[in-house]
Amino acid sequence: MKRKQLVVGNWKMNGSLSDNEALLDGLTRADGLSTLDVAVCVPYIYLAQAQERLGSGSVSWGVQNVSEYDAGAYTGEISVTMLADFQVSYGLVGHSERRSLYAESNELAGIKARKLLGVDITPIVCVGETFEQREAEQTFEIISAQLEAVIEQIGLENLGRIVLAYEPVWAIGTGLTASPAQAQEVHGYIREQVALLDKVAAGAVRILYGGSVKPDNAEKLFRQVDVDGGLIGGASLNLIDFLTICRLAT
Ligand code: PEP
Repeated sequence: MKRKQLVVGNWKMNGSLSDNEALLDGLTRADGLSTLDVAVCVPYIYLAQAQERLGSGSVSWGVQNVSEYDAGAYTGEISVTMLADFQVSYGLVGHSERRSLYAESNELAGIKARKLLGVDITPIVCVGETFEQREAEQTFEIISAQLEAVIEQIGLENLGRIVLAYEPVWAIGTGLTASPAQAQEVHGYIREQVALLDKVAAGAVRILYGGSVKPDNAEKLFRQVDVDGGLIGGASLNLIDFLTICRLAT
């Protein structure tokens, strides 16, 4: 039996009060979402709006980043306790845009995951290789290093409390997507790595696929045995496309 699917939208730095309102209200009104988990990771500044609009409905809200510090002189940063004030359910860590544009390391992704767990926010840990790394047959090695750094920070006992997302860097925002077989190969590998440490956690952990998922390619990706849903960037900004992708995951 498949694990309960999870589809998460990553709005990145997009949105406005009025555009968000239409999107959030559309999600709140949508039917056909009761058999899966759905969330949207919004820019920090729209958290209050997400909380107000999604309220106690079935769609959750999350963030795209968080500070590794608790409080103090960190101008421009947002702490995990601030996120908890807004009933945030999920936080992305290690997204490839954070890694490449803001030089975030494997270790930093791990520290952020640990901080989120400290306030019961589920980290969505993003891992994935660049095109060059894939060409050089380093995909598994890169992903192992990314995973190990996170596990070192959160501890084995918390393996069952995270969500993983395989996001090949070459597929994010490019229109290129991993074939269903390529996605399954890496998802299977990730699950095997987790199983070496904790068999129960490996059976339960959800591994999302992300990278140019669209209504026309989602179904075959979601059908793969180790793909437990998706992390959706561009297509999550369009209500119809996002809802279609969510429904294809059920
Ligand atoms: C992402 O931002 O995590 C992502 C997968 O983006 P896109 O769907 O646009 O490739």
